[in-house]
Amino acid sequence: MIDREKLEQSLAELPLYVYLDIDPKRLEFSDRIRWICQNECPMYGKSWACPPGVGEVPDCRAKCLSYEKCLLIGTITEVSDTANISETLATRPPHEKLTNQVRDMLKEQGVTPYILSTEACAVCDRCAILDGLPCRMPGRMHPCVESHGINLIPTLEENGLDFYYSNDIVTWYSLLFYND
Ligand code: SF4
Repeated sequence: MIDREKLEQSLAELPLYVYLDIDPKRLEFSDRIRWICQNECPMYGKSWACPPGVGEVPDCRAKCLSYEKCLLIGTITEVSDTANISETLATRPPHEKLTNQVRDMLKEQGVTPYILSTEACAVCDRCAILDGLPCRMPGRMHPCVESHGINLIPTLEENGLDFYYSNDIVTWYSLLFYND
């Protein structure tokens, strides 16, 4: 059983904008999100962290719902303008680093979370999927939240949060599913 007080103390020491427990069963899984991946994202089919490599939405949903708990974490970073893609994307590695720090906190307590994070995996320079090979580091890669068909907006709204705040704020969220 997780020592919740210890976890909260550790989480409070990180530069997170938010951390909160959500009920996996309240997440919205939608084929519409998968449609957007397939039709509007240049990474579709180019990473094991993205569709179709992650599997069908019902299977992704079943995987997420096989965990009884989910920790949502978020970061916000100020930039000059979110339209500046390189500046905006430069805020992503620090978020991923924090996600891994939270993973390690859970692992220290004997829990290995299933993690969904941001965009396509960037662990390798060239994803193995492009060469028809299995993922080189499945223990390190985190599929993106949307890859599983999750529409995070209703969950954020339920908790007084948002994806978009202004054109000089970048927001990233990760989900860490676990059984206690
Ligand atoms: S760890 Fe490497 S092979 Fe696996 S998803 Fe990430 S980039 Fe692709």
